[in-house]
Amino acid sequence: MRSRRPRSAAGRSPEGEAGVSSPALFAGIDLGGTKILVLIADASGHVLGSARVATLAGQGPEPVFGRIADAVREAAADAAVAVADVQVAGVSAPGPIDLEEGIITDPPNLPGWHNVPLARILHDRLGMRVYLENDANAAGVGEHQFGAGRGFRHMIYVTISTGIGGGIIIDNELYIGTSGAAGEVGHIGVAASGPTCGAGHVGCLEAFASGTAIAARAREAIAQGRMPRTARIAEHNPPLSAETVYLAAEQGEAEAAEIIAAAGRYLGIGLASLVNVFNPQAIVLGGGLTNMGDAIMGPAVETARTRSFAQSFMDVRIIEGELGDRAAALGALAVARIRDARRAS
Ligand SMILES: [Zn+2]
Repeated sequence: MRSRRPRSAAGRSPEGEAGVSSPALFAGIDLGGTKILVLIADASGHVLGSARVATLAGQGPEPVFGRIADAVREAAADAAVAVADVQVAGVSAPGPIDLEEGIITDPPNLPGWHNVPLARILHDRLGMRVYLENDANAAGVGEHQFGAGRGFRHMIYVTISTGIGGGIIIDNELYIGTSGAAGEVGHIGVAASGPTCGAGHVGCLEAFASGTAIAARAREAIAQGRMPRTARIAEHNPPLSAETVYLAAEQGEAEAAEIIAAAGRYLGIGLASLVNVFNPQAIVLGGGLTNMGDAIMGPAVETARTRSFAQSFMDVRIIEGELGDRAAALGALAVARIRDARRAS
């Protein structure tokens, strides 16, 4: 464990670095597959202005660069500040990412993006120093710095939506691993056989407990003539998603409720692995599936309890995030602030 912070020369806390050589204003940019969110904020995460535009990823990278730059200008105008006064920007983007070079290498949900040097491109267009971080890590840092994870030295962030991702905070630092790829909690193995994840592994948590997995189980059942209520809701309001299954469960369809509960139990296996391996103070949960509340979290927490070391489970608080869809943009901003201060020192 001693080698886990190879790039932190001094090991100082981010708080100790802020305000000394950092500029006062930051841009946090969340580049998603469907939308781009830009926040202008001060070092304490106080948001002064924002802008939100559609990504329109299908048009390829070049028009998206322009939309990001325009959204930054719009957010600066909303904050009543000059773009030139915002000297540092953090970008939350789908992985995998070359963190050192600021390159988006091969994101599955941004078609046509291959080895895009986004940090340099945005630097050239906006004049800011730009730092990239993968989206789940960024959201984890956001919750740790400004949200539900404040005050916890050891915190794991888990986002559960169409996929499952995470961010690991150890000793108040984001743990990124050897090549920046750590924190892939959606790829914790929970079964020796069964469905494969997006990366092609067998038995990953993501293939059992994500929104995509819940929808896939429902489609299988419907193809066999079961789950008529889920089928009816999906017919009126396509496409069939985890939300559809949840609505049917709320309306009393037992098999829909069981699919969600089963996803929750697998999630609990993943959470127990995190509790047993990291002994964290908090696990902060984000992503759309947390809106299912007890239907998924009840079985998840109960399964986590039965599979965790008793003391470790007593030590951990499993809580919902506070920042919603602003977590990644705020976290990107925080990551940029920390890296920029380190580079300057
Ligand atoms: Zn996997």
